[in-house]
Amino acid sequence: MSKPARTLTFKCVKCNKPVTLYLQKVSACSHVQPYQGLCACGELRRHATGQADAVKSFVETGEVHHHHHHH
Ligand SMILES: [Zn+2]
Repeated sequence: MSKPARTLTFKCVKCNKPVTLYLQKVSACSHVQPYQGLCACGELRRHATGQADAVKSFVETGEVHHHHHHH
């Protein structure tokens, strides 16, 4: 798996300006690489790559859950 980018850029959903999202620090066992950035208009933008349900919970709640459910 390649190293995740440290920053990503997305357009703000409110004002349509580009927002820089920074890779958040996560624990070594995490299945997700969470990104977060704050637009100049105050809108928080979240994005994540990795395991689908971990991505979903981060984008919805802003939290990375550390419970494990290996199959
Ligand atoms: Zn904005």
